[in-house]
Amino acid sequence: MPIFRRRTSQPEVEPDTRPQEFTYVPDAGDESLRPMAEHRDRLLSQVEPLIAFGMSLYDAWGLALCEDITSDINLPRFDNAQVDGYAVRAIDVSRARGADPITLRVIGTLYAGDATALQIGPREAVRIMTGAPMPVGADAVVPFAVTDRGAGAVRVYVPVEAGANLRPLGSDVADGDVLARQGQVVDSRLIGLLAGAGIDKVLARPHPRVVVISTGAELVEPGRPLTNPAQIYDANLDLIAAAAKAAGALVYRVPAHSDDPDQLRDIVTDQLIRADLIITTGGVSEGDADVVKQLMPSMGLTDFADVAMQPGRPQGFGLIGEDKVPVIMLPGNPVSAYVSFEAFVLPVIRKLMGIEQVNNPPVRCVAESIMRSTKGKLQFGRGIVRNDNGRRFVQLVGGHGSHLLGDLARANALVLLPPEVEKVAAGDLVHCWMLDHD
Ligand code: AMP
Ligand code: MG
Repeated sequence: MPIFRRRTSQPEVEPDTRPQEFTYVPDAGDESLRPMAEHRDRLLSQVEPLIAFGMSLYDAWGLALCEDITSDINLPRFDNAQVDGYAVRAIDVSRARGADPITLRVIGTLYAGDATALQIGPREAVRIMTGAPMPVGADAVVPFAVTDRGAGAVRVYVPVEAGANLRPLGSDVADGDVLARQGQVVDSRLIGLLAGAGIDKVLARPHPRVVVISTGAELVEPGRPLTNPAQIYDANLDLIAAAAKAAGALVYRVPAHSDDPDQLRDIVTDQLIRADLIITTGGVSEGDADVVKQLMPSMGLTDFADVAMQPGRPQGFGLIGEDKVPVIMLPGNPVSAYVSFEAFVLPVIRKLMGIEQVNNPPVRCVAESIMRSTKGKLQFGRGIVRNDNGRRFVQLVGGHGSHLLGDLARANALVLLPPEVEKVAAGDLVHCWMLDHD
């Protein structure tokens, strides 16, 4: 007896289509800022969905299917009782009244799982439990509650319609029905449906293995002692790791609390083997200790850009090591890193997973108060969105500072103020990205 039901068709092996070169030409160092969507689309153009494989159904939770799945059975598989009672011919009990019950002869009992073939004739009944196959000739079930629960003979006090209290063959799912489509994300309800249809294995793309590396000589792991007055706790490693986990990644957390390029090279090199994607934080701006920007060009193809967004202006992308592992290099300020995650990393993780809708869908909200923005940049305000009878209202929390972790934690949305916008009046509509993916 095989543990897994064998599928009749073997999954097709997909070709490895990882890029070997950037398929676009990085900017030649001009001063113009790159629009956010353009940077995102460039990153997306450099990654391909991970190769799918057959996995057990339960393990596919949260993953995107790579096949349409049809049912090869009916659900229910056979007409069966919906309640505990007596299987009858409705016509026999049509005149049943409390004061004038109909008496039927009980010819047997059927339990769930009982395949005994029984057939009833006129004025006969079978005691039947929920889920047991209906006997031939019966067309309804009379619940115990409207009978005297008799054994050899039963009195029925109330009539039932034909078809009452039974679940017909194929009434839920018919043989040949499509149960799920390629690209659909497997949730618990779909798992229930597929399991009910006897499907134990599906073809799905795996969780991307995402390595998160935080850089910065000033950083200390939370829980460890701060030993000099200039040290701070590393917020990004867990922030970005948790966001990646919520996006569906299998996350490895690697603190690289250093600004030394040689040390970082060793750390990154060690991670290449297990990464479908590497995310670094910090060290991508113009400072003297911007280690990521100094190191990465020597490890592969890189593209550093100033993106027309605030926070999150300095961004880096690369394909590094022998296998051209994609690396997204985020700025170090925690809010910048998080906003950049939402803008760039989330879509890339979704693409790796084969999810069709990769970008955050903008949600329209009414601004509750005046909002100001810098011209020429997409401004991401931290917002609190509340839902009032189906209408969404948003207000900003805190200031623009990209170090403000407290405000970020209070927010449930990012308010997108486009580059051409300098001011939004109270009552105007604005676009927001909702943040509760997890
Ligand atoms: P950087 O991009 O490395 O120049 O960092 C910009 C700012 O973000 C500096 O004030 C850093 O101390 C801070 N920063 C960088 N990485 C982290 C981190 N992992 N956690 C908290 N703050 C950070
Ligand atoms: Mg730094």
